[in-house]
Amino acid sequence: MELDYQDQDRVLGLDGISPELLDAAQKKNIIIFGLGGLGCPVALYLSAFGCQNLNFVDFDTVDQTNLSRQVLFDIHDLGQKKVAISKHKLLQRFPKIKINTYEDRLDLNEINQLILQSDIVFDCTDNFDSRLTIAGYARKHNKWLITGSVIRFEAQLAVFSNSKDADCCYGCLYEINNDPMINCEGGGVFPPLAGQVGTYMASEGIKAMLFNETKLDGKIQIFDLKNNEWKTLKINKLKECKICRN
Ligand SMILES: [Zn+2]
Repeated sequence: MELDYQDQDRVLGLDGISPELLDAAQKKNIIIFGLGGLGCPVALYLSAFGCQNLNFVDFDTVDQTNLSRQVLFDIHDLGQKKVAISKHKLLQRFPKIKINTYEDRLDLNEINQLILQSDIVFDCTDNFDSRLTIAGYARKHNKWLITGSVIRFEAQLAVFSNSKDADCCYGCLYEINNDPMINCEGGGVFPPLAGQVGTYMASEGIKAMLFNETKLDGKIQIFDLKNNEWKTLKINKLKECKICRN
């Protein structure tokens, strides 16, 4: 099915966005790791943007405890693969988009290949090992990385262009194995926060697709929703960074 620019009429009304620019952005190859609380809103807004090369990676199934913050799923989806349900629902709503799904656990070589073929990588996973693996390949192949995490009332969002002259990467954020972007299991999550950060991640990614730049490149934004405090920090290159020290 051909794209119809009427779908994006309001986007084309924005300053600096021509049909050619929009067309090029929609053709970017996008990969989303994790279709949970962050991945659901990311997938929704990238689909609404008309992305033509979306790839969803998640081996998990829908669980009842997911429903409060994983907004693509409902009670009828319990036990089914998250990527299959997401694809089905998003294609019903946006029939012109294209989505590939990966519902089995991938090995390192497969992750490497998928990131190599991508332009923009969204890390919406919920554990440090996956985040470090994804960030390492994104850096290696000079791919944009948009990464987020939520726990309790707190969230973090960081963006890395990973261009050849970039002076920091995701690994520079942390001392080895000291990850403040904690797994949300067991800690509890304020449900709207996942939606807020997920839509923010989508926004950063769409800017990268359109303009190949965003002011958040090389920075981390930290949200404390309980106290309504937001701050933005520049990330400095870590001498002992596990990913980019060489
Ligand atoms: Zn680094």
